[in-house]
Amino acid sequence: MLKVELKDGSKLDVEEGKLIIEVAKELSPSLAKKCCVAKLNGKLVDLKTPINESAKLELVMYSDSEAFEVLNHSCAHLMAQAVCRLYPGTRMGVGPAIEEGFYYDFSIPTAITNEDLPKIEAEMKKIVKENIAINHYMLSKADAKNKFKDDKFKCELIDAINDDMVGIYEQNDYADVCRGPHVMSTGLIKNFKLLSCAGAYWRGDSKNEVLTRIYGTCWATEEELKNHLAVLEERKARDHRKLGKELGIFMFDELVGRGLPMWLPNGFIVRRKLQDYIMDKEYELGYKHVMTPCLGNVELYKTSGHWAHYKDDMFPKMDVDEESYVLRPMNCPHHMVMYRSTLHSYRELPLRIAEIAADFRFEASGALTGIERTRAFYQNDSHIFCTPSQIGDVFKEVTKLILDVYNDFGFKNYKFRLSLRDPQDVEKYFGNDELWERSESELRQVLNELGVDYYEAIGEAAFYGPKLDVQVRSAIGHDVTLSTIQLDYQLPERFELEYIDEKGQKARPVVIHRAILGSMDRFVAFLLEETKGIFPVWLAPVQVKLIPVNLEFHKDYTDNLFAKFKKAKIRAEVDYRDEKLGYKIREAQMKKIPYQLVIGDNEVKNGTVTYRKYGEQQQVTVSVEEFIDMISKAEKEMK
Ligand SMILES: [Zn+2]
Ligand SMILES: [Zn+2]
Repeated sequence: MLKVELKDGSKLDVEEGKLIIEVAKELSPSLAKKCCVAKLNGKLVDLKTPINESAKLELVMYSDSEAFEVLNHSCAHLMAQAVCRLYPGTRMGVGPAIEEGFYYDFSIPTAITNEDLPKIEAEMKKIVKENIAINHYMLSKADAKNKFKDDKFKCELIDAINDDMVGIYEQNDYADVCRGPHVMSTGLIKNFKLLSCAGAYWRGDSKNEVLTRIYGTCWATEEELKNHLAVLEERKARDHRKLGKELGIFMFDELVGRGLPMWLPNGFIVRRKLQDYIMDKEYELGYKHVMTPCLGNVELYKTSGHWAHYKDDMFPKMDVDEESYVLRPMNCPHHMVMYRSTLHSYRELPLRIAEIAADFRFEASGALTGIERTRAFYQNDSHIFCTPSQIGDVFKEVTKLILDVYNDFGFKNYKFRLSLRDPQDVEKYFGNDELWERSESELRQVLNELGVDYYEAIGEAAFYGPKLDVQVRSAIGHDVTLSTIQLDYQLPERFELEYIDEKGQKARPVVIHRAILGSMDRFVAFLLEETKGIFPVWLAPVQVKLIPVNLEFHKDYTDNLFAKFKKAKIRAEVDYRDEKLGYKIREAQMKKIPYQLVIGDNEVKNGTVTYRKYGEQQQVTVSVEEFIDMISKAEKEMK
């Protein structure tokens, strides 16, 4: 008899060779039904695994997170079986479980599209009904290669395996080279959905053949599947690339270049409003705004150290005359040089130089994502030059600004991360111990004082100084780093920055890099996702849509209203198209315009406007002045 210790610490006597599923059934038949796989001495295994030694046994239920991966991997096999049945001659790449489901790569003789997915799903359901046992066995490499001799991809995978023996999973007419584990039979895979198909290079290498990758997702219960599909729908509806197109915010064109966004009229308004907003805030805090060119001499970036450490993320240099220029990946060096151009007294510090600066980074084309990740973007940047004793105050001021801005935008779901140096490895960092220790404890103190919820990341500081960054979570759970504050002890050294201290001596300032909205482009992407494109009145590219009922009778009054709105700086548009009223109203709704004004006989007769607010059914009639006041107030209050 073997001794098997369960998770709760209890011990069982088990005959050698007994299958785990049998042990589970003896414990409780209903428990066995909820079981997906098991952990034998910590290793995930099939329920059909025999127990051959005394061991620790843990049953993994379908409701456990580890079962999700197993179930999805089994579903990938199920799909592969269906595809092989439907499309004879199919060869198989790999089919793993991924974070939210699974995929499988195939080389299918017939080209398939998303329209073919229901057919594959139907075949999968048939196989589920057949309830085929899923069996595992081992083969020698040679035997395995013989078994898969018609599938060059599988043979390549077998060759890459380091062991002499190869694990095979088989379910009737389908077999796969696989480590498992898997559920016991196809009848246990019930709640799945195929989502999309796309091209994918064999082994992710662009020199290889393109395979068809089919994505799907599988859940333990029907309800979980339904919830997940709803989440996917919501994500699609909030995808900033889709919204950006629908609302006329930005566009891309291959002819202009990949990752180079062009801001359309509506997008430009949003950008300008955001820019004014943040620059006004900065101005109130004493920031000085500047403009610097988006090119720089390579020597500038050699001085800053970027050329040595950041070159791979930059566009290649351009040689002109005897000089070399680069598109700047960041504008810190320009600001350093600007600071250095005049003599500074301690009385002027902290000196806050700010710029909405165009930067360029070489992002791999696969990494480009709408306006979230681009090759050209604008940074809401600033460099604050201060004395070492001012670090705490400056840090506090910037943190307060971040909190203030998030409050204005109604962001509630965010995390502050304070990155500190690793005290075990001080050699790695630039600057002296005293400066690091003092500033780190000051940063901590400020965050505590402000009651900010933060966590510390030891060893995550940049080598030139500690930093704080803020990750904001969007409505669909997407985390984006918007704001950062970074102390820098090194750049002042590299650029030999100075100020004259109280004693009339030359001293070295500290530089604090900070971004509040971060990249303006990424910020708009975040806003689109967060608001689903329903911008508040103050940001809405078009605030009011005027829709005359009759193009002849109501035109003069509408023109007149439009002129009044324009004068009051209300962003209005008139729909003069010869379309049905209902169609025009629906379209204004789709464009998520905050106010729709339908202008008919009553409005003309009484000199009023009747509005409907986006997302509301009720219509309200007010005087023209009242309406203008209402919009102006919303604009001022950032509503
Ligand atoms: Zn597999
Ligand atoms: Zn900087």
